[in-house]
Amino acid sequence: MTEVKDFDVLIIGAGPAGLTAAIYTSRANLKVCVIGESFDSQLAKAGIVENYPGFSEGIQGMDLSTRMIDQAQKYGAFIEEVLVKKITKEDDSFLVEAGSELYKGKVLILATGAKYRELGFPGEKEFYQRGVSYCEVCDGPLYRRKNVAIVGHGNSLAKAAVFMSPIAKRLSLVIIKEELICEAVYKDRLAKMDNVEFFYGAEPLEVIGGDTVEKLKIKIKTGEEKTLEISGIFVTAGTVPNSELAKSLGLELTKNDFVKVKNKTTLETEIPGCFVAGDLTGGRRQIATAIGEGASAGISATKYIQSLQK
Ligand SMILES: Cc1cc2nc3c(=O)[nH]c(=O)nc-3n(C[C@H](O)[C@H](O)[C@H](O)COP(=O)(O)OP(=O)(O)OC[C@H]3O[C@@H](n4cnc5c(N)ncnc54)[C@H](O)[C@@H]3O)c2cc1C
Repeated sequence: MTEVKDFDVLIIGAGPAGLTAAIYTSRANLKVCVIGESFDSQLAKAGIVENYPGFSEGIQGMDLSTRMIDQAQKYGAFIEEVLVKKITKEDDSFLVEAGSELYKGKVLILATGAKYRELGFPGEKEFYQRGVSYCEVCDGPLYRRKNVAIVGHGNSLAKAAVFMSPIAKRLSLVIIKEELICEAVYKDRLAKMDNVEFFYGAEPLEVIGGDTVEKLKIKIKTGEEKTLEISGIFVTAGTVPNSELAKSLGLELTKNDFVKVKNKTTLETEIPGCFVAGDLTGGRRQIATAIGEGASAGISATKYIQSLQK
């Protein structure tokens, strides 16, 4: 039979929210385990981060993630780079199945973040990893001096465009909304880039190719169809929360699948001993806000365990 690994605090998710909660709880001398894939967090894939305070030159998301892991480990937290399959609530603890291991914790902090949103246009799925990607930081350099399209909207499209413009030969922005709503700093930079074309209010119709992507057919605002000769397509349409584990545990979700918190300060949920933090709760969905919630959940978890010992 598999031996159960016993902890005070189990944290599911190795992004900024989970890792911050780990720093707070391990510094409180609790036995802490973070379970999640740190290299797969949004933070790790964020590329250059310019709005996280303290780094005036910006910092690579992966670098920030590594620093947080080092800090949590320095205070004794364990990090298990594996995904969780199942969580069960027992009388006074939580049982977590991950890989071939079983973990038990008095407290559970869910910080499973979010994943990329798919747009669902014909060919998006079929050509995934054959020219279609959701991560320009991971795959962008594969398209050096090639024609590339970015399909989506908002800050995520703008940030991807700023990253890809110096790499690509020509960059076609297929903006599925009438306007590009993004941070002013990205708008200013995009205006200065001379290899970028903008299609506002456009619709991706079909990806065409053989082994890999060769063309993207789009409908532009006037109703006219255009075929873009491109080698790569980045889909940047925001994210959807990873709330499956929370749901299976019985936590209530909002209509957009975020976890409902009982108290926004303590980040406790309807299940005693279970706290949530980061993008999983909705809100502004930034590194700084995920860290703020990770800190709050870490403090609440510590107080909860102290209350059990009285
Ligand atoms: C391309 C991109 C660029 C961005 N740029 C910026 C920026 O410049 N500035 C900014 O402030 N924000 C930026 N963001 C947003 C920011 O990265 C997120 O708001 C932040 O990372 C959320 O932190 P989190 O800890 O809640 O979740 P995440 O970072 O999403 O981490 C979630 C963690 O949960 C784990 N997980 C998921 N499912 C399971 C499971 N079943 N079992 C175990 N673990 C699981 C994942 O492996 C991961 O480790 C960007 C996001 C993207 C995608």
